[in-house]
Amino acid sequence: MKRKPFIAGNWKMHKTIAEAVSLVTSIIEKLPNPEQVEVGVAPPFTALSAVAARIGNSALKLVAQNVFWEKEGAYTGEISPLMLKDVGCEYVIVGHSERRQIFRETDEMINKKIKAVLSFGLKPILCVGETLEQRQKGYTFEIVKSQLLKGLEGLSSEHVLKTTIAYEPVWAIGTGKTASPSQAQEVHHFLRGILGKKWDKEVAGSIRILYGGSVKPDNVKSLMQQPDIDGGLVGGASLKAESFLQVCSFMEV
Ligand code: PEP
Repeated sequence: MKRKPFIAGNWKMHKTIAEAVSLVTSIIEKLPNPEQVEVGVAPPFTALSAVAARIGNSALKLVAQNVFWEKEGAYTGEISPLMLKDVGCEYVIVGHSERRQIFRETDEMINKKIKAVLSFGLKPILCVGETLEQRQKGYTFEIVKSQLLKGLEGLSSEHVLKTTIAYEPVWAIGTGKTASPSQAQEVHHFLRGILGKKWDKEVAGSIRILYGGSVKPDNVKSLMQQPDIDGGLVGGASLKAESFLQVCSFMEV
């Protein structure tokens, strides 16, 4: 089954509104053919509205970096799925390792967020990945399996089909160390197998599994050549239009 590649740029806590609009303008100008690759950007919350206005009718997708699971209420500092829908987001990153580690997000919280995102017609991007210590001790598969199943617990096939998975080994994020294409493929293949067992063949064959962790113009092609790698969640290289567009044009690199 052919899955359309998806490249999403995670800007993390970078860019003022003016910088975000300037970056997105440059990206839109040279956006690759949307028939061949889907491209999204995840600006900080403060720039979502301005970036949404700049995106307009372009094929570029707006992605949020995080969400809370309630619709509204006394949750100082939080942003609801309703608000993300309202501002024009289509996707929401959930369970990024920085949220798990720095903000102590648990699999249970992540599962609530995923359910809330889906209930508002948004599409979650669930991040899973092992730390260096877990990899060295041989726990990689156990960890990613547990994060995947706990994150998606209680979801119907229909909802899982609207979900994207991002395998992001924590030791490769922002470190310049990339998992080798075969290391990443091994985990992606494993995750797809679990989806097939827990849900069904259609889910396993259709769901996109992105790789994240120091994806750059010079390594994207070899990663994307792997059969179970369907795109990338890109941090550092998404902060400049040139490098992000090069990553998005991996077919021509
Ligand atoms: C990320 O934060 O999701 C990420 C993969 O970052 P980087 O590309 O900088 O490693």
